[in-house]
Amino acid sequence: MKILAITNQKGGVGKTTTCVNLAASLAANYQKVLLIDLDPQGNASTGSGIDKAHLKHSIYHVLIGEKTLSEVIVPSEKGGYHVAPANRELAGAEVELVNELARETRLKKALSKLEQLYDYILLDCPPALNLVTVNALTAATSVMIPMQCEYYALEGLSDLVNTIKKVRANLNATLEIEGLLRTMFDTRNMLAQQVSAQLVSHFGDKVYNTVIPRNIRLAEAPSYGLPVLIYDKTSKGATAYLDLAKEIIHKNQQVKGAAHG
Ligand code: ATP
Ligand code: MG
Repeated sequence: MKILAITNQKGGVGKTTTCVNLAASLAANYQKVLLIDLDPQGNASTGSGIDKAHLKHSIYHVLIGEKTLSEVIVPSEKGGYHVAPANRELAGAEVELVNELARETRLKKALSKLEQLYDYILLDCPPALNLVTVNALTAATSVMIPMQCEYYALEGLSDLVNTIKKVRANLNATLEIEGLLRTMFDTRNMLAQQVSAQLVSHFGDKVYNTVIPRNIRLAEAPSYGLPVLIYDKTSKGATAYLDLAKEIIHKNQQVKGAAHG
């Protein structure tokens, strides 16, 4: 079982697109997957075909302690995975939890009861290093950082790496960086090529081999509430996320193999 926090405080880098499409691609590879939407924008819920406006309960109720996680989980019928959805109510959690005890470990506690039911749990983080993101980093076994290969991308990365270090020191000693994912990649763009090369020289094998190309199908699919794999399985976007799922499964099997001798 792996709990992956998909995070980057920079907005619009492809966190949600990665969360939804990786969930569907892992499911297509016979993995049991739970996606937890931790963003009040609720884009991962919508992109999974869930009507976020009419939710009775959501991840908000779990974080404030009113519901258990299993009470809010719904299936993504087309995606083949489960979702703990979110909507704008979640924005209130930040304020409501401020004076609560153990406010950073809410998600971790909620997950401890059902994590054994899944092979992968993906956490779609909001574009902020806030309390909800800290909850994700505290609950996670590892972090995936989607990023666009632009000039400022590397700068933002050091803030995130510092936050991860702080969480490791105080809340989750075994938190690892699972990998950096290059998203919306355009091979004809020289700057993207340069930043990509820098990334690899700096982070080595922490950078996934799989690169997600800029692909219009990935941008269209959410408006149909579908992962791209269902919307257009022959698209470059669908192929890329299937490759990423395979790379992650393979990496995990190697780690397990090493651990067992
Ligand atoms: P936020 O920080 O607001 O949560 P995010 O990091 O979750 O954003 P996304 O919502 O996944 O980013 O992507 C931002 C926009 O870019 C969306 O409109 C999405 O459809 C589009 N997009 C993401 N990945 C790709 C891609 N590989 N090719 C084309 N469009 C993409
Ligand atoms: Mg998002």
